[in-house]
Amino acid sequence: MDFGFKLSPSSAINLDKVDLSRFEKLHGIEPDIIKCMACGSCTSSCPANRFSGMSLRKVILDLQRGREKEALGMLRNCMLCGKCTMVCPRGINTRHLILSICRIYGEDGK
Ligand code: SF4
Ligand code: SF4
Repeated sequence: MDFGFKLSPSSAINLDKVDLSRFEKLHGIEPDIIKCMACGSCTSSCPANRFSGMSLRKVILDLQRGREKEALGMLRNCMLCGKCTMVCPRGINTRHLILSICRIYGEDGK
């Protein structure tokens, strides 16, 4: 029967089936990452956001959910200016965090 609309596919993520080994490794060297409360201050101050949609908030959420491809694709737009570090209310050294993400997730060439 055609109701004139379709249900969207579920966007639920089964975290039991997601490989979070790299995120755990990242957490080992950047324990502050779990202090992020997804407030978005980093995103709103990011000069790369306006022209590329760069959002560190989304990058962190994606990594926590095992969506590595999406996170790393977005991170390519970061200019490492460090503005996000100045505004983070949780005191996370976001610039250092970004460098650590590149190091950990770039290790296997992904
Ligand atoms: S400003 Fe800090 S706490 Fe807020 S979303 Fe960005 S990293 Fe997380
Ligand atoms: S360091 Fe990267 S994420 Fe942070 S404000 Fe600058 S361009 Fe945006």
